[in-house]
This record gives sequence, structure tokens and C-alpha cells, in this order.
Amino acid sequence: MTAQLLDGVALGQKLRAGFKQRADELAAQGMRPGLAVILIGEDAASQVYVRNKVNACTQAGIHSEKYVYPCDVAPQVVFDKIAELNADAKIHGILVQLPLPKHFDADSVLEAIAPQKDVDGFRAENVGALMQGQPCFIPCTPYGAMKLFEAAGVSLKGKEAVVVGRSNIVGKPMAMLLMHAGATVTVCHSQTSDLKAHCRRADILVAAIGKPKMITGDMIKPGAVVIDVGINRTADGKLCGDVDFESAKDVASFITPVPGGVGPMTITMLLANTLESAERSLNT
Ligand code: NDP
Repeated sequence: MTAQLLDGVALGQKLRAGFKQRADELAAQGMRPGLAVILIGEDAASQVYVRNKVNACTQAGIHSEKYVYPCDVAPQVVFDKIAELNADAKIHGILVQLPLPKHFDADSVLEAIAPQKDVDGFRAENVGALMQGQPCFIPCTPYGAMKLFEAAGVSLKGKEAVVVGRSNIVGKPMAMLLMHAGATVTVCHSQTSDLKAHCRRADILVAAIGKPKMITGDMIKPGAVVIDVGINRTADGKLCGDVDFESAKDVASFITPVPGGVGPMTITMLLANTLESAERSLNT
């Protein structure tokens, strides 16, 4: 078997064309949706992600503002900026690029964002709403994965889903979304014994680990749908996922490439959440 690609670039482009139309409709009513992105420190990958997010906003007709701070910035400076953006009617979404330098308490930074502008869906109350099945904003990466399933016509009802990784930004919300969609979900992590056995049971396998090519073809059930969230750099500087694509593609029925799978969908769903936030603010 050679798996079909779940192409996040193509799906992202299709969805973004619709977003541009929605942004234009808002503009016709005198409102331009706006996203503010805060970047702290010099992490090379974060700089690329922020640049891609800002460019995607421009293409979709969404206003964006970027605030860049040096690694040693005083936390209060960032809290003051977030308070200012919370009160700014031009801004409908605020994103703080993670990870943050060590002297920051990431939770308190995320909690400082107004809930109605928390387009990453990371604030505790938005996490709770997602858990209750009534999300305000769905975290962008798992949201993007759900859109890939939907576009490929992958039914989740009654399926065995295994999520490898239990982070607050990917693994946990991914598991919650799969559960709400009717899958039976197992969440694996670094203390899981016999990871391979869990993965081998999965009709739907999501890898969000941060370990290059850790999931190999022999760990995948024939015909499984594989979502590779990982973004890693190999010794020769190339990007690769958490799944060993070469061996996995001969076993899976569908698989996301890295790059070109989940990454572009994450940005696409950030645009979706920002637009949604702007539309809500127009209606309140
Ligand atoms: P974290 O480091 O926060 O979480 C990694 C998870 O993997 C943890 O739960 C950890 O377990 C688990 N893990 C680590 N080693 C093993 C192992 N040997 N066996 C099983 N589980 C293991 O990472 P993130 O969730 O933030 O990101 C995961 C990956 O996804 C990264 O490569 C990141 O760059 C990428 N990413 C990609 C995005 C995209 O848009 N495509 C967006 C966000 C992230 P434990 O909890 O026990 O430590």
C-alpha cells in the first residue's frame, strides 16, 4: 500500500480563499480583522513561524501587528503590551509565540490574554470549554488535524485513536477533539510502557512528540490514518516529522507529509479563529 497524502498546503489554500472573502465582507461593514503576534527571544524556528503567520494574515486580508522583544525583556513589559492589545478594538486575536524564555511563567502570560481574543485557545477557561464540548476557540494545530480528517472523508466514529504526546497545546486538545468526534482515545507519553503495542492498535494515529522519525512503519496498523505533528530538524538541516515517512507510507492509508501537512493547517486555523473572533465582536 502507498498511503494517500493529506495535503495541508492544498487544503490550507482552499480554506484561506474562503477566509479572504469573509475578511472582505467584514471590511465592507467597516471592520478589518486584526491579529497581534508577540515574539520573545531569538529562537530561529519561532521567528520563521511568526513570519509565516504574519504573511498568511496579509494574504487573507487580516491586519497584523508584530511585537518582538529581546530574550531578557522584563515580563511586566509583555504584560503591559497584552493589556494594551486586550483593550485595542483593532485587534481580535492575540498570540504569544511559544516557547517563552525561562524567566517567564508561560501560564500567567497566556492567562493575561482576554478570553475573547485567545485565538490559540490556551487559556484555562477556553481549555475547559473545549473539554465540555463547547469550544470558544479550538487550539490551531489539533483543529487543523480535524480539518484534514474532514477533507479526506475520514470517519472517526467508533475508531481506535492513539495520540502520542500529552502537551497542553497539541496532545491533550487533540485527544479531546477525537473523543468528541466519537473515537475511542488512548493518550501515550514518555512513561507509556510498550508504545508500539498501543500504536499498532490505532486506526487513527497522531504523533506529537518532538522526536525525529520515532514512529516507524512497523509501529503502524495497516490502513491507519497517520497525522504527523512533529517538526524536527535532522543533522543535515532538513525538516522531518515524528513519523518515519518512508516506512510509514507503505503501511498507512493516509499520511501527512512534513513539511506540508499539519504545519500549514495550523496557520490556516489561526486565521479561522481570528476571523471568527472578529465576526463575533461585530455581533456583540
Ligand atoms: P512537548 O515537548 O510539549 O510534548 C511532547 C510530548 O511527547 C510529551 O507529552 C512527551 O511525554 C511525549 N514524549 C516524549 N518522548 C516520548 C517517547 N519516547 N515516547 C512517547 N511519548 C514521548 O511538544 P509539543 O506537543 O509542543 O510538540 C510536539 C511536536 O510537534 C514538536 O516537534 C513540535 O515542534 C511540533 N509542533 C508542530 C506544530 C505544527 O504546527 N505542525 C505545532 C506545535 C508543535 P511527557 O509528557 O511524558 O514528557
